[in-house]
Amino acid sequence: MNVEAKLGDVVKKQMASTSKGAVPVTVAFGDGIGPEIMNASLKVLISAGADIAIEPIEIGEQVYLAGNSAGITADAWDSLRRTKVFYKAPITTPQGGGFKSLNVTVRKSLGLFANVRPCNAYMPFIASKHPGMDVVVVRENEEDLYAGIEHRQTDEVYQCLKLISRPGSEKICRYAFEYAKAYGRKKVTCFTKDNIMKLTDGLFHKVFDEVAAEYPDIESEHWIIDIGAAKLADTPDAFDVVVMPNLYGDVLSDVAAQIAGSVGLAPSANIGAHCAMFEAIHGSAPRRAGQDVANPSGLLLAGVMMMAHLGRTEVAERVHNAWLKTIEDGIHTYDIFKEGVSQQKVGTDAFADAVVERLGQKPAELPAARYGDDAKPFMIPEPTQRPAARKELVGVDIFVHSAEPLAELAESMQRAANGLMKLEMITNRGVKVWPEGLPETFCTDHWRCRYVAKQGQVFNKAMIVELQKSLAFSGVDFIKTEHLFTFDGEPGYSLGQGQ
Ligand code: NAD
Repeated sequence: MNVEAKLGDVVKKQMASTSKGAVPVTVAFGDGIGPEIMNASLKVLISAGADIAIEPIEIGEQVYLAGNSAGITADAWDSLRRTKVFYKAPITTPQGGGFKSLNVTVRKSLGLFANVRPCNAYMPFIASKHPGMDVVVVRENEEDLYAGIEHRQTDEVYQCLKLISRPGSEKICRYAFEYAKAYGRKKVTCFTKDNIMKLTDGLFHKVFDEVAAEYPDIESEHWIIDIGAAKLADTPDAFDVVVMPNLYGDVLSDVAAQIAGSVGLAPSANIGAHCAMFEAIHGSAPRRAGQDVANPSGLLLAGVMMMAHLGRTEVAERVHNAWLKTIEDGIHTYDIFKEGVSQQKVGTDAFADAVVERLGQKPAELPAARYGDDAKPFMIPEPTQRPAARKELVGVDIFVHSAEPLAELAESMQRAANGLMKLEMITNRGVKVWPEGLPETFCTDHWRCRYVAKQGQVFNKAMIVELQKSLAFSGVDFIKTEHLFTFDGEPGYSLGQGQ
């Protein structure tokens, strides 16, 4: 099916009569249930007065199968870079290898650093484990383990690099506080694992505290991710806005949406300094495609976030409240329909019509949506430029692939130093095993050998080159070198476990 064939009547009419001041929006109708729920969502938004100029693009399954491994064409990029606003239906990623995640490509290429996912319960109209749940998860979207830098280094060991940057952390923490300010939220909580990852997660936590100090009217707190996640799943009422690095956010935003009872209803926004993308969190549900049964709510609520982002808060509020009233009136699609609670089971299009009929109404029991003056679009400033630190080289970690006994490895590594520097320790998967390791420690074929300057000597890069030469000549299979620096006198590396 080409793009033209995916456009519904309301969308075609809107495209034929777009007003001069309409805001251009790039729209992907997606795969599976995508076209149905996108047409339904646009019907509601347009009926509510969303003055948007729709630029349809084709992405996803057909583009992948046509041999484009990224799932997106050059024309689609042109449209995105022109409109800077992307309203995206779910796509199908074909099975089998070689296809890159379109979402990750779009997020990273357009610098969409913030993933915002509101998770709400709609009790008693939709069952939920946590009736009053109203949490917004703000996930860092560009770095952490998702930098995608992985290497196989030995027969037994693979590595994935976790990169956390100060500007990246500052952008996302500031975004969380600005979001809280704009939407009248009272508290921002940070989750990290900085008791273990003292440098990477430690930086995220530190920057969170620095940014929090600039927002004295908003409460701030930090939880270690494990107990924080347990608390979030058990007592989500204790949280308001929660900000965290990429991987934790990926996992916990799904947990939060699921326990709210509304994975099929949850929207998400991906926000960058120049562009933004809005979508439902669910996939293309291919088995439900073409039957007019899918629930368009997640995508519609993503459209509400988009209207707020564009500063059309009046449209956002009208649609959001009409949607809440529809849910409250028991007009439900099959996925949330429950005998005794729901009044009428409807399909995708009829659900959209029910929301359109209720435009201008507010819910009677559920809290009405309010997009006050503060909810106008906000942007965060460029991250703070800091003076470069005084950086000193103090040693080197040489990583080695070796199956020989530890004592022999230690001897070869000491010999290679040629008296130029001191072999301080050897660790295996982070645990110190030489000198004075424990025989119980399980070891792999991946060793980290740390060299530092000898007493009274200064370390320099030429010494590392000499060491590498000597290792190469003696046949040691070194696989990676990591320099040890201090920054303004503070070590920029962690100690070995047990050191
Ligand atoms: P899915 O979210 O499509 O479906 C999971 C279950 O939820 C299915 O039972 C489905 O019928 C149901 N469901 C999902 N959305 C629904 C809706 N709006 N109304 C009613 N029921 C709904 O997940 P999946 O089956 O794992 O993935 C299917 C395809 O979607 C895959 O190709 C996957 O790669 C893709 N996917 C795309 C995105 C995206 O584009 N953002 C996200 C997730 C998955």
